[in-house]
Formats: sequence, structure tokens, C-alpha cells
Amino acid sequence: MASASSASSAPSAHRVVVIGAGIAGLVAALQLARRGLQVTLVEAADTPGGKMRQPLVDGAAIDSGPTVFTMRWVFEQIYASAGASLADELELTPLPVLARHAWGPGERMDLFADPALSRDAIARFAGPAEAARFMQFCRQAREVYDTLEGPFIRSQSPTLVSMAGDLGLRGLAVLASLGPMSNLWNALREHFHDQRLQQLFARYATYCGSSPWRAPATLMLVTQVELDGVWSVKGGMHALAQSVASLAQRHGVTMKFGTRVDTIGVSNGRASSVTLANGERIEADSIMFNGDMSALGQQLLGTEAASAARPLTPSKRSLSALTWSVHAETDGFPLDRHNVFFQADYKREFDDIFSRGKLPGTPTVYVCAQDRGLPDSPDAPPPQRDRLLVLVNAPAEGARTLSDSEIDACETHSFSLLARYGLRVSRTSQNTMRTTPADFSRMFPGSAGALYGMATHGWMSAFARQGAQSRIPGLYLAGGSVHPGPGVPMAAMSGMLAAATLAEHLDSTSRSRRVRISGGTSTRSPTAAITD
Ligand SMILES: Cc1cc2nc3c(=O)[nH]c(=O)nc-3n(C[C@H](O)[C@H](O)[C@H](O)COP(=O)(O)OP(=O)(O)OC[C@H]3O[C@@H](n4cnc5c(N)ncnc54)[C@H](O)[C@@H]3O)c2cc1C
Repeated sequence: MASASSASSAPSAHRVVVIGAGIAGLVAALQLARRGLQVTLVEAADTPGGKMRQPLVDGAAIDSGPTVFTMRWVFEQIYASAGASLADELELTPLPVLARHAWGPGERMDLFADPALSRDAIARFAGPAEAARFMQFCRQAREVYDTLEGPFIRSQSPTLVSMAGDLGLRGLAVLASLGPMSNLWNALREHFHDQRLQQLFARYATYCGSSPWRAPATLMLVTQVELDGVWSVKGGMHALAQSVASLAQRHGVTMKFGTRVDTIGVSNGRASSVTLANGERIEADSIMFNGDMSALGQQLLGTEAASAARPLTPSKRSLSALTWSVHAETDGFPLDRHNVFFQADYKREFDDIFSRGKLPGTPTVYVCAQDRGLPDSPDAPPPQRDRLLVLVNAPAEGARTLSDSEIDACETHSFSLLARYGLRVSRTSQNTMRTTPADFSRMFPGSAGALYGMATHGWMSAFARQGAQSRIPGLYLAGGSVHPGPGVPMAAMSGMLAAATLAEHLDSTSRSRRVRISGGTSTRSPTAAITD
């Protein structure tokens, strides 16, 4: 996307520079511009979206970051707050099959958007008692989600104390029912007897870049998010980023692409300017940083902003990934949109990554077939060539960078597993693009390739994420590495929270108010507001 000029703003308008056009940066820029602030967004890449990137591989545009679109209501709320309609701006289609799971050739089970279909599928796969346990698990996951949505997800920088107050007795009882300090894996063992189902639902911890053996049981709320629906976005996930960028431009945001911010300047203790890689300096009244929060503490934005946020220690980093974007003929396996190929020893995968710092010897392989799974074409012939994102979990960069031979070995394991389960992919060096943790580290400075900021390991980790207000006045943080956490809708909410926090600071009459975003699945309110 080319640079675009903004509509004119009042000369006295508060000037904000947003660094980064990831989804949180785009949403924050939009929210601030619609409040009348003068917003300039500066992005190092040539297009908006950050991790929602869509490189051309063998002539085909392939979503090579997020592929699972959930929590549609978050975007309905964002578009409505900007006087637009998500449904008018983007074509979204609910997917009838949430994901197809395989444990061997012919050993498959689908989860469906319709819970009754999932229950029946589980009954056929693992027996009626397990299907009944699934329905019980759904009830608990729903309760956990409903309990935490307001007090945690939509609240700015919640603490243990604020949460205890907000949860009330009923909320505390729901969390206590999970068992003291229980991890997700243990909680799932109490629900399911079939290890394959424990594995299936444990995998949702990886959506936050975490190990099910270290993640708190509350992460079962991620399952609920997916059970609430998965949509296909016409044009891919990148189209969502393009759409939010275009809405922000319509509201007057000036966008500069292909331009890295080198330093953030601080004067009189307040963030006050940015200097671009080309030497240009932009004065600002406030700055919003949408890169990985660790970049600040690592002094990648200069020394003056270094105290804004502490960098993560390597042991706290979330998962990275090894991915292949492929445009190729496939055969032998009935691919749906989202496909997961499991191996028997699930624990070893996370021990390899988090304890040994190496690529998994027995990886779970996720395959997103981007032209499959739409409801109106169940009988349509499969595409001649599939656009695939193939992904395995990987460690973030630690003390060392993974060697080419380790990466090649993992690639061989991964595609042999697919072949064993029936899926053959006709890959060549021309139709395949590989992305390693080191590549992610280069694309997202400060992250060390960790794709989700801090891992959600242990009960207290949820409270350890930095909030929108950095330690430097006038410098705000938005993105998947800060509260409420990673994933496209959560990062978008972080953009909303950061914009609301900045706006609240400008409102001198309401200094003592806590920022929270209204709306959500429970209320389906189409407005974003600061509430008391
Ligand atoms: C392979 C992969 C699969 C994923 N799968 C899913 C999924 O299925 N569903 C889901 O919901 N989420 C998924 N995620 C997570 C999701 O993509 C992220 O949590 C979310 O997109 C992060 O958005 P963000 O706002 O933090 O910005 P980011 O996407 O991290 O973008 C930050 C932007 O800031 C820019 N920037 C940084 N520093 C500077 C600077 N100094 N100057 C200028 N620009 C700068 C970067 O270039 C980048 O564009 C996945 C991520 C990856 C990588």
C-alpha cells in the first residue's frame, strides 16, 4: 500500500505517532483519529498487518501468519465505533468445520461450529460417555470465559486485587472449581478419559504460545473462543488488516510504509518525538508503540525510551514457529480449512521446546488449506493447487540460533508425518517458502522470534503482562506482547485499550477512572466506550 495523506486536522489537535501497523497499531490509530487526534502511523514493512502477512509464493498470495479468525464481535464493535459496518467492508463466512484432527491414517475427528454435531462426532470417535464429558467441558469453558471476559480481557492492566473485586463471589467460585493451581493438562485429564481428546483441547494453549503442562487451567477459555465460531475472510486475513488500514485512512490517519522508526525521543521526562531511519524527525504529543514490547528494553528504539518496559528474559518467551507457505498439488487426504496432525507423544513436543530449547522431535503439524472448507461448496472439486500454510511449534531464539541441519530434520519429520497420514504435498523449492524463528526475529525486532510475547505459564503470568501505559509518560503500548495478550482479536482489543487509555489521560476531568472496553459476546454492544 502506498503512503497516503490524511484529511486535514485542527492545528491544535493532539499529535500522536503510532509505530507499527500490526492489528493493534491500526486499531489504535483508527480509534484515536475518530476522536479527533492528529495521527501519523509509521510502519517498517511495505504493507499493513504485521504478522498478518501474505507473501506471494509461486504467484499465489498465501496467508502466512494468523489463519484462524475468531471473536468476530470484537471487529464488529471496532467498525461500528468508526461509523462503519464489518459486514459491508469484508466478506466473512462462518466455517461449518472448526478443525479436522488426525491421529493416523483414517483416524480422524472433526470439531464443528454446531456443538451437537461435535458431540455426535465425539460419540462416534470415542464413545457416548466421552461425548457427555465434552458437553460438560463446554459448560465449564463457557463459565470460565464469561467470568474472565469483563474483569480480565476487557479491563486495562488488571491486578490480582482488582480482579478479586471485579469477579465477585460467583466469579471466584467458578475459578476455584478449576482446582487450586491446576494446569490446563491436569484439568483436561479430569474432563476427558481419551488421551486424544485431552491432546486436542490442550492444543489451544498454543494459541497463546504456551505449553498445556505449564498453562493455567483458565486457558480453557481459548477453546470457548473457537467453539463460538471460526470465519473465513475473503481475500485472507491480510484483507482484514488492509480493511482496517483503509478505514483508519478515511478517518484521517496519515500512513508511512517502508519506514522504520529508529529512535523514540524523550524530553522533560515525556515521549516527544520519533526519528525515522531516513533521518526525518516527527514531533509528537504522544507515541503509541505497536512493536514487541521487549524491543524498548533492548534499546532497539534508542536509549531514551529504554526504561519504558522491561525486556522478557528468554525463559519467559512464548512459542515461535517453523512454517512453510506452499502453493502445490496435494492428494491422499481430505483437507478441510484447518487441519491438525497429531503424534502420540504430545508432552515430548513441549519438553523439547521449553526445557531443551530445540525443535520438537515429534511435532504436531498444522495445515491451513486456504481454498477449502467453505460451506457453499462441499461438492466443489478441490483446487488444482492448494495454498497451504504448514506450521510446527518451535522455540524462540534462546542462547543460540537453530542450525540449518536441525531445521531440515524437522522439515523431513513434519512432511513424513503428513505422508504417513495420507497427505502428499508436491513441494519444490519454487513453490515453497520457509520461515524460521530467526526470520520471525528479524521481521519483529525484539521478539527473538517469540510470536505471542510472554508465555502464559503459571497462574500469575496473566497479571505480569505490561498494560497500555508504559513507564514513560506519553508513551503507550499496544499489541500481542501486552495485555490482554496475543491473537488477532486480543491484539485488536489491546489497540482499543491503549487508545482509550491515552484518551483518558487527555481528559483531565476523569483522572481516577479505570479504563475498560464495553461490549462483548454477552452484551453484543456495538459501541466502544470508557466506563467507570
Ligand atoms: C505464524 C503465526 C500464526 C498465527 N496464528 C494465529 C491465528 O490463527 N489466529 C490468531 O488470532 N492469531 C494468530 N497469530 C498471532 C497474531 O498474528 C498476533 O498476535 C497479532 O497479529 C499481533 O498483532 P500486533 O498488533 O501485536 O502486531 P504485529 O503483527 O506484531 O506487528 C507489529 C508491527 O510493528 C512494526 N514495527 C515494529 N517495530 C517497528 C519500528 N521500529 N518502526 C516501524 N515499524 C515497526 C512491524 O514491522 C510490524 O508490522 C499467529 C501469528 C503467527 C506469526
